[in-house]
Amino acid sequence: MTSRSSRRHLMIGSGVALGLGLLGGGRVLAAQDDAPSASLGWADDLSDNGKLNVVTTVAPISSIVRNIGGTKINLRGVVPDGTNSHTFEPAPSDAKVLASADVIFVNGLNLELPTLELAEANLKDGAEIVALGDLTITPEEWKFDFSFPEEDGDPNPHLWTNVPFAKRYAEIVTETLSARDPENAAYYEANLAAFSAVLDALDAGIVAAIQSIPEANRKLLTYHDSWAYFAPHVGMTVIGAAQPSDFSEPSPKDVATLIEQIKAAQVPAVFGSEVFASDVLEQIAKESGAVYIDQLRDDDPPGEPNAPEHTYIGMMLKNMDLMVNALGGSTEALAGIEPWDTYAQD
Ligand SMILES: [Zn+2]
Repeated sequence: MTSRSSRRHLMIGSGVALGLGLLGGGRVLAAQDDAPSASLGWADDLSDNGKLNVVTTVAPISSIVRNIGGTKINLRGVVPDGTNSHTFEPAPSDAKVLASADVIFVNGLNLELPTLELAEANLKDGAEIVALGDLTITPEEWKFDFSFPEEDGDPNPHLWTNVPFAKRYAEIVTETLSARDPENAAYYEANLAAFSAVLDALDAGIVAAIQSIPEANRKLLTYHDSWAYFAPHVGMTVIGAAQPSDFSEPSPKDVATLIEQIKAAQVPAVFGSEVFASDVLEQIAKESGAVYIDQLRDDDPPGEPNAPEHTYIGMMLKNMDLMVNALGGSTEALAGIEPWDTYAQD
């Protein structure tokens, strides 16, 4: 066992409440004795230590893969947390990392094309690339919208903000790791069971929290367009997104349209992105009378790398705190769910 993997973690079976709650609208983290001190994260050196070498792209996928692979894999995420994953260009040095991988998990749906190209060009003999999004939905289920217009051919890639799709990602990861490393298949299966239990609790809690929002307020206007698959699942409507498909700022005409939409829909809050700071959305909020919340995130878990809350679940809990409270609902239904990794320590 390496020093990394011997760090103390808390294993939770089914989203059990640990007595932590919400205080002043914020989540209380890491203050209790039973909170884990760190997450293994996704910055391992790939090596010939006998473990599978696994490469991932964006942080939510890295976190999902860690929860399945646990201590039995070397895991490296190549897209730095909180960068614009849609335009990310891998560095030449990433070619070496990609060339060392036994498995490369990408989202697909055209999210990480430059990384995918580099991965294909450097793929080791016998290694494989697994595109989780493409294996989760069919082209008939692709969503196109203002930021991801159909004429460009690139569907909205943000499947993972919809928790049942994140669970499907975890299942595909389990199948893939088990097939390549049958000796540890039971370990990966057990990790899937533990992680799925928390994802189910997270999903039910999110749906309940959204249902606590007054019906007229269950509308999303965002800068970055991350909620196209989440919204219909939880009973919300995406009324618009401000960010054009080339990730530039919206035109004055687009801005005027958005202000009219917000006024007509009487949306109480609009949501900016932590990664894409936008003065334009702030101005739109001001002119339309909506509150501006600028911290939603789709690929940047809260906290520093290796912090115990720097996880996919931590990211979704943080998003729900911001979204639900700003729209007049309550996150009480999520109070017992902890963000920590759930994989077994053996
Ligand atoms: Zn995004």
